[in-house]
Amino acid sequence: MDEILLQDPELAQAIILESNRQVSKLELIASENFVSPAVREAQGSVLTHKYAEGYPGKRYYGGCEYVDIAETLAQDRAKQLFDCQYVNVQPHSGSQANMAAYLAFMKPGDTILGMNLSHGGHLTHGSPVNFSGRLFHVVSYGVERETGRIDYDQVATLAREHKPQAIVAGASAYPRAIDFARFRQIADEVGATLVVDMAHIAGLVAAGLHQSPLPYAHITTTTTHKTLRGPRGGMILSGESMAKTLNSQIFPGIQGGPLMHVIAAKAVAFGEALRPAFKKYQLQVVQNAATLAACLMKAGYDLVSGGTDNHLMLVDLTSKDITGKDAEQALDKAGITVNKNTVPFETRSPFVTSGVRLGSAALTTRGMKEDDMRLVGSFIVEALEKRNEPAALENIRKKVEEFARQFPLFAW
Ligand code: PLP
Repeated sequence: MDEILLQDPELAQAIILESNRQVSKLELIASENFVSPAVREAQGSVLTHKYAEGYPGKRYYGGCEYVDIAETLAQDRAKQLFDCQYVNVQPHSGSQANMAAYLAFMKPGDTILGMNLSHGGHLTHGSPVNFSGRLFHVVSYGVERETGRIDYDQVATLAREHKPQAIVAGASAYPRAIDFARFRQIADEVGATLVVDMAHIAGLVAAGLHQSPLPYAHITTTTTHKTLRGPRGGMILSGESMAKTLNSQIFPGIQGGPLMHVIAAKAVAFGEALRPAFKKYQLQVVQNAATLAACLMKAGYDLVSGGTDNHLMLVDLTSKDITGKDAEQALDKAGITVNKNTVPFETRSPFVTSGVRLGSAALTTRGMKEDDMRLVGSFIVEALEKRNEPAALENIRKKVEEFARQFPLFAW
């Protein structure tokens, strides 16, 4: 930071302010986490200088002998972590991992059966504003109105009717365990390729706290920065038979030179995830989410599906007559960062919404446990109830800041 301060005080100020925001507020965005100092060091290393188009041992540039070591470490650790034969650690993001996965076996106009965005799916699972919805014919499945859980019978019916080339399982805002075996059964029945996007739950899968998709999916994709607690990026995993096709879809298919500094940071994060402490951390993530969910329900808030099995929950504010937008703003004023989120069968626009999504991964990284989550829950409830009282929100913000500062960003 010393150099930035010296060379570019304007930018340094932005970083200092952001750093202060992260320390003084409570981060409940379900897709975010805090990486270790070692991960950040790798990401800020000299590896950023290196061009290395190609793969370890087969590059289009000279001088790749040391970045080859970094990429091979990332690959080997990811394979060990998820017990798979093939991995590509080069995708710059989860979206690019999904794009490469689709292009490995589909052509424009083919049919993709994915989860509806407003039921918890991701943009890349077939939204009309995303490449996935523009390139492919999309059919969407959702959750049951009564239970808030994936309607597997609907998935099967739609699959039989539309004979999709791809069925995509995985979500951005789904609080329950996903039955990958059932998805595979449906895919096999109609001859579809099963792509599982485990971006949100990858850390839980690595720790054995969620069924692994690897034995069921033809291709598994993920981000590396959510529960997995690595640098921002993506990854593709599968059996050895798809290696050549998937590699060529990433490079030269949709990417050029890999980000070797990010790949090195992925290697560090996967090394951390292989240690026993990571399993303990993930267990705490799940317990913390369950505790927060119970607090909110006790205070009369509806959760989609009535709770959570993983690291996140979706609060449906319809019965409280609060919009997701108003809730997000009020909570922000109280020092609590969340994102507004559509709920299944949403009646409001995506800019307003009827819900907020909360996740426990980042606060757990700061060392918070069940009692702390009960306090966080009480801050949330108080802020939502006093959402129209600026002085009360400022009071909560002060309490939140004092509490948050007791927890360093890196508590392990
Ligand atoms: N897949 C899922 C399920 C996600 O939730 C996300 C991001 O939120 C992505 C893919 C895309 O990741 P990225 O933002 O790295 O493109």
